[in-house]
Amino acid sequence: MRMTVIGTGYVGTVHAACMADIGHEVLGIDIDADRIASLSAGRAPIHESGLDELLGRAVASGRLRFSTSLAEGAAFAKTHFVCVGTPQRADGQAADLRYVDAVVDGLAPHLRPGSLIVGKSTVPVGTAARLAERLADMTPGTEVAWNPEFLREGSAVQDTMRPERLVVGVTSRHAEDVMRAIYTPMILAGVPFFCTDPATAELVKVAANSFLATKISFINAMAEVCDAAGADASVLARAIGADSRIGSRFLDPGLGFGGSCFPKDIRAFAARAEEIGAGESVVFLHEVDRINTRQRQRVVGQARRLLGGSFTGRRIAVLGAAFKPGSDDVRDSPALAVAVALREQGAEVRVHDPEAIDNARAVHPELTYTLDVDKTCEDADLVLHLTDWPEYRDLDPVALASQVRSPVLLDGRNALDARSWSMAGWTVHAPGRPRLSPAPAKVAAFAGGAS
Ligand code: NAD
Repeated sequence: MRMTVIGTGYVGTVHAACMADIGHEVLGIDIDADRIASLSAGRAPIHESGLDELLGRAVASGRLRFSTSLAEGAAFAKTHFVCVGTPQRADGQAADLRYVDAVVDGLAPHLRPGSLIVGKSTVPVGTAARLAERLADMTPGTEVAWNPEFLREGSAVQDTMRPERLVVGVTSRHAEDVMRAIYTPMILAGVPFFCTDPATAELVKVAANSFLATKISFINAMAEVCDAAGADASVLARAIGADSRIGSRFLDPGLGFGGSCFPKDIRAFAARAEEIGAGESVVFLHEVDRINTRQRQRVVGQARRLLGGSFTGRRIAVLGAAFKPGSDDVRDSPALAVAVALREQGAEVRVHDPEAIDNARAVHPELTYTLDVDKTCEDADLVLHLTDWPEYRDLDPVALASQVRSPVLLDGRNALDARSWSMAGWTVHAPGRPRLSPAPAKVAAFAGGAS
């Protein structure tokens, strides 16, 4: 089938490449001419596992091309996926829909009868209906459907090829048939396909993100209580997660969530719910947001206490800049927010990340970046682990202890093996857990809790 994918960022690039890979003819469109030039040459503008290979194959096959022209897109295909950003508005908590609206307005004069616009961007409930109304005057017969995107940065290609579910919100049998045809390989592979109305589809996305954000903030609230009580939040998380009704995923006490989705999605959901008279139903999302933001302050506060109350003249190694492992995305990254706060409060901060240094430097050129962990940790008074990259779990704490001035680790992600770090001579701190002092194996094993 032929289709355009409009907006070639994290979602659009992956979607376009995957659609071409399963046999469709795809035209990717963006207003960013540099990005389109790079994509046309088969170079992905983002770091995502497997994407370079997939993109190169799709471009070489001739099934994936790129353009900056919506008119060319409307002439090429009748199905148009909209994957542009929906960031938080500068003047409030609601979603900024100007990019979505610009795409629809730009396409409208060129659309052919029977065209289908399929939104993938995360939008406030009612957006598809509003766009359909807007188009009704300009191009009668164009339908607007919504097919929210659930991919996770870091495993975006895998998530697109084999999603856990597909959700489409349509207003006609024709649109349902088009969507089923596009996703045939996934449906045949057993991926659940939920076909519903556009409002429900729009809400599935924000409800899912709200649930996950709530789960993260819940365990972080428990970590705060554990800190006050001298209890261990990581044992608590494992013990409550063993209940199959709760489950252990997304139950890791730590620095909290960030990125370009959860924070702005829960705020936009609360703002939209208020507009439609359901604000009280999601008022808890404000608390979820507050708990999450507080975790960054808590880590900074804990670091300050570990350094005796002042950052002045102290050197801190920060491991991680991306908002999550597997991605080079630093939008609303908790790790970077902490690094910036430490520097503003007088610390000398060095930041390491396996993939996100270029993006981090573009937004925070004032920080010092280093390409290897040893250099980052050289003469550090404190090491902060802030993004849970797998390579940090493989670090050798014995070797690293010889690099630093003082072997003190603050594991903001509660992800490193505290026991082996303490046995290597480190004092290990983590949100919600009792401190682990450098200790012989017997003591460390006891302090590590149940296994
Ligand atoms: P992004 O910022 O990486 O990419 C957006 C792209 O749209 C950019 O390349 C930009 O140049 C382009 N664009 C803007 N205006 C345009 C226009 N008028 N015409 C053509 N192109 C235009 O955004 P993203 O992270 O890919 O997210 C896109 C949407 O998908 C958002 O609504 C987001 O909430 C949602 N989403 C994102 C993820 C994720 O993990 N990033 C996951 C699920 C859903």
